[in-house]
Amino acid sequence: MSEDPKPYEPLIEQPSGLAGIFAPVAGFGVTLSSMFRPTVTEQYPFEKVPTKPRYHGRHQLNRYADGLEKCIGCELCAWACPADAIYVEGADNAALPDGAHRSPGERYGSVYQINYLRCIFCGLCIEACPTRALTMTNEYELAGPTRAGLIWEKDDLLAPMREGMLAAPHPMVPDTTDTDYYRGEIAGPVAEQVEWVTEHRPDDPTIESATAAAQAAASDQAVR
Ligand code: SF4
Ligand code: SF4
Repeated sequence: MSEDPKPYEPLIEQPSGLAGIFAPVAGFGVTLSSMFRPTVTEQYPFEKVPTKPRYHGRHQLNRYADGLEKCIGCELCAWACPADAIYVEGADNAALPDGAHRSPGERYGSVYQINYLRCIFCGLCIEACPTRALTMTNEYELAGPTRAGLIWEKDDLLAPMREGMLAAPHPMVPDTTDTDYYRGEIAGPVAEQVEWVTEHRPDDPTIESATAAAQAAASDQAVR
């Protein structure tokens, strides 16, 4: 004779009494209580929520106050990158005509690319940069329609010209060295630099504001 099957024994003890009556609809309690809590949904892209100040967004290549570029084409950022996302080619400032510089010192970055298909936004590149040329902004909207479009070139990454800056290339501030630039001792363009650009690129749109900045700096100097 076959044995009687064992009766069903639930693994979890079933509630009894009132709790047992409301058990099938208890899950709705979570829904109902959530209806009276503050909304956490973000209406992106219609409303953009600011990131934390130290958020790692797209990169930026910075300039000195006189408009020279901070990047010296040393490639340390490229070597530090774990994703092989950066490509740099350096070039000699001495090869530029009439004593012009793109950056203080011997070298400048002639080609600079970041491949945002590879970048993991770890920030190791900005830690490696000896001149603080490379920093990261809070900008996170980096989608693009093509793969090639996600390789950002130097012109895409360069910081915009601020009021009073003089567009490179042009000579360094007279009687200064690259060390003076690295120490932050350059406050803005001087008359000699403005004259050089006026002679070589008379249509340069930054001449006007750089002239005003150089004159203001000179009159400050005279007062002291
Ligand atoms: S943030 Fe990281 S992955 Fe992106 S370029 Fe810099 S080092 Fe490479
Ligand atoms: S961004 Fe900085 S680390 Fe990279 S090549 Fe320029 S100076 Fe060197």
